[in-house]
Amino acid sequence: MRLDNRVALVTGAAMGIGAAVAECFLEAGARVVLFDIDAQALSLRESALQDRGELLAIAGDVASEADVESAVARTLETFGSLDLLVNNAGIDLAGKAPDFSSSDWDRLMDVNLKGAYLFSRYSIPHLAARAGAIVNISSVHAIVSYESCPAYDAAKAGMLALTRTLALDHGPQGVRVNAICPGYVDTPMTQKWLDSVPDRAATLEQVRAVHPLRRMATPRDIAEAALFLASSRASFITGATLVVDGGLTIYGR
Ligand code: NAP
Repeated sequence: MRLDNRVALVTGAAMGIGAAVAECFLEAGARVVLFDIDAQALSLRESALQDRGELLAIAGDVASEADVESAVARTLETFGSLDLLVNNAGIDLAGKAPDFSSSDWDRLMDVNLKGAYLFSRYSIPHLAARAGAIVNISSVHAIVSYESCPAYDAAKAGMLALTRTLALDHGPQGVRVNAICPGYVDTPMTQKWLDSVPDRAATLEQVRAVHPLRRMATPRDIAEAALFLASSRASFITGATLVVDGGLTIYGR
């Protein structure tokens, strides 16, 4: 699954799943643009990946149309094309509806859903010229519901609908659009959540137990699935959802 001569832009690439996708794509021969809101973490990731291939780090917010437009323009100026887009950046805010502020709702939707739309909007004309592909990182939250996650679950489900509609609209131009639904993945986002629960060890054990494979995913597990969907090995796959959850949704909890 090589990505030679392909230029990929990965959002939320400073850490976690996005960083693993960036690394995996570089190893597969792609030139990679790392986009992230955390300029400091981004700079550390850029240094860590520098000897792995050609890359460009751009700090910005996926929810800012100006940042997105400028990131796509800088990608084209630097590398001459854009072939692959991985909409990965996301945030995790929880709370039952009465306790969940409308500003938190707006911010979560802006980052987790509008960001994917904005990057798609500015990227698709370039992807269409190159038989490109989009991979959207959704979640099992799009399929099974979790307590106190109304905005996160709605945004992740929305991302699957967005995936299908973009696939429908841009398939005739040769653009493929697919989504991945990870279960629990061992990333800074998950570690932050584990740090917030009363009994970390017991929660970690429960997390392992809800996966038939009895472990969380590594970021690399998700990156390998993204590599497949971005590569020509998936050339007839579009509008699809690939559940990469160690079997979690078989249990449905
Ligand atoms: P993570 O460890 O928090 O890393 C996400 C990166 O994205 C961080 O560097 C973060 O910066 C950045 N980011 C956040 N908001 C951004 C914005 N507005 N613009 C640009 N970059 C932004 O998260 P992760 O666990 O790797 O998750 C990546 C994606 O997978 C998310 O969409 C998440 O919902 C999804 N997912 C995660 C899991 C899981 O178990 N971890 C499971 C299913 C799906 P800051 O740290 O400054 O916010």
